[in-house]
Amino acid sequence: MRDPSSDTQAPPPRTEPSQTPPNKAAKRRPRRRRKPKATPAATPQSLENLLIETVRAKYQAMFGKAANDIPIDLNLSFQVVPGDPWRLDFDPPLEEQLGDVLEQHEARQSCFTQGRVYCFQCDAADCDHGVPGSPSEVFAGYDPVGQPRWCDMAQFLLDLKDERVDQLYRENGQVVARQLAGHHLKNRQLSPFGKSSKRFSLIGQVILGYLSMVGHGGERERLAISFQAVESRTPQGLIRLHLNVVMHGEDRDELETRLEEQYGWIRRARRQAEERLAGLEQQLAQLKKKGSGVKPRQLLRQVPEILQQLRQQLQQGYRQRQRRTKHAEERRALLRPIDKAMADVETARMEDFFFDTREETVILRGRRGRCHVFTQAGKHVTSFVIGENATHGRFRRGRWEPMDQNQCESFLTTLARLGSGGSSASG
Ligand SMILES: [Zn+2]
Repeated sequence: MRDPSSDTQAPPPRTEPSQTPPNKAAKRRPRRRRKPKATPAATPQSLENLLIETVRAKYQAMFGKAANDIPIDLNLSFQVVPGDPWRLDFDPPLEEQLGDVLEQHEARQSCFTQGRVYCFQCDAADCDHGVPGSPSEVFAGYDPVGQPRWCDMAQFLLDLKDERVDQLYRENGQVVARQLAGHHLKNRQLSPFGKSSKRFSLIGQVILGYLSMVGHGGERERLAISFQAVESRTPQGLIRLHLNVVMHGEDRDELETRLEEQYGWIRRARRQAEERLAGLEQQLAQLKKKGSGVKPRQLLRQVPEILQQLRQQLQQGYRQRQRRTKHAEERRALLRPIDKAMADVETARMEDFFFDTREETVILRGRRGRCHVFTQAGKHVTSFVIGENATHGRFRRGRWEPMDQNQCESFLTTLARLGSGGSSASG
């Protein structure tokens, strides 16, 4: 006797064809037809093998042999549709889902992360070795087992017998830019530890220092930056060129903003180098398509020249800025900011005080665009000169807001309590 439940549960005969109409999913149809073949004699074991084989073949077709044994998270989305025969409904199609998953997986293995130097010893860009340990350090090359080495810029220049090292210590703080070739930075690195790896290949770098920056606590610190030209590969094997800007800072975005505000000439030099590298990258991609006789290596010889231009622009930009700031009053303001700040506080009116909503500091806007920055506790952080346009920009964006009488009086009381002697955070 037949099991009655199987009759009552049986679905009504289907009247529509089991295939989707061609206008809806012409692309999917061939893949669906392939599926049912595997099902009749499938055991869990054979199904597993089939899945492994499918993923492996797809991976190898896309990227070649897997470089490591990092597991691939595979979440496929599909429905099992009962019918005659039963079928699997993948949406999006299986090929597409697999391709997306594998591409994301491979991109996560990529060795390039902006602002970090790849560490071949840990096989990672996000280990502790990938960034300088202090603001004054630059990348000084790889050690034999592929771990990045960091060195104070002054010490590094000494090691290189660069005579400009004493300029770093002059009273008005000269800035030095120096270019180094990739092979120089990799000469101690051993081959099994990434010396000729194309996943993260350092072509060369320009180091720049020291820039005077105001730290989180209001103290001045000396910042050095390593600008690196790095070659890497996309999952499809195309050459990528990056300008890796490496510097020490807890909050990278915040540091970049301060740097751009204080040193516009760095931003301009950096953009130009980035644009030239991007242009070269495009030429390399076209080369691959056309299959012309020119070798990528030949094009890549332009990279040192791009770095050389970057070095010149950084050095020149700094000198031009020096010339512009020779104006006596600005210079006094730069040299003894605390005296100037306190003198301006004496003569300030209430409408000269503003609250910086982003930094949560108090701004005193003095004469001729000279501004003084204080913490709310009355510590003098820094002074700078700002043009009319930039000033209006800050009001318009709501970054600077007027202070009301109470806020202003309470701030002035705090300042008076500190006295002019002990309130500097920058001296
Ligand atoms: Zn490491």
